[in-house]
Amino acid sequence: MAVEYLLPCECGRKLPVQSRQAGQKVHCECGRAIVVPTMRDLGRLEQRHNSDAAVVGPWSTRSALIALGLLVTLIGVGLTAYVYWKMPRFDPVATGREVNGMSPYETWQWWRYYERGIPRYPSDELIEAKQRELYLRRWSYFTIGIGIFGLVIVLLGALAPALAPRRPRSHQR
Ligand SMILES: [Zn+2]
Repeated sequence: MAVEYLLPCECGRKLPVQSRQAGQKVHCECGRAIVVPTMRDLGRLEQRHNSDAAVVGPWSTRSALIALGLLVTLIGVGLTAYVYWKMPRFDPVATGREVNGMSPYETWQWWRYYERGIPRYPSDELIEAKQRELYLRRWSYFTIGIGIFGLVIVLLGALAPALAPRRPRSHQR
């Protein structure tokens, strides 16, 4: 939250200024140029507490890290969702025509073979689907990795003040 000081102009308007503008000239709507007083004199002026994001100073490294981490996490989650959405569904009725007509025991055995990657009765579409699944699964490790990486960045941002070494006090002259 940036504190703004209301600098009165001769015309009666009050110009919002910030302490970092001390010594600079600001222009009022009436055309007059007013020099922003030094920090000490600024303190005597009327204050306006402004929570408007537009006037808040640049983000701290910490917030930037957290925001970046959240963004990376979101991208990771989004990509993972996309990869899983693209993954073939192994519906025995839709993909394994051979499964139809099997006894429950045979079906179970078929799935057991199938799970090991050596289907007993593989159809072309099943082999293709399996290859696509393996390919997408490899991608999913990557996208999950992105998500975890994002969370690590968020954690780093959250813990940054605790990890950062204390700054030595600057020498006063
Ligand atoms: Zn004015």
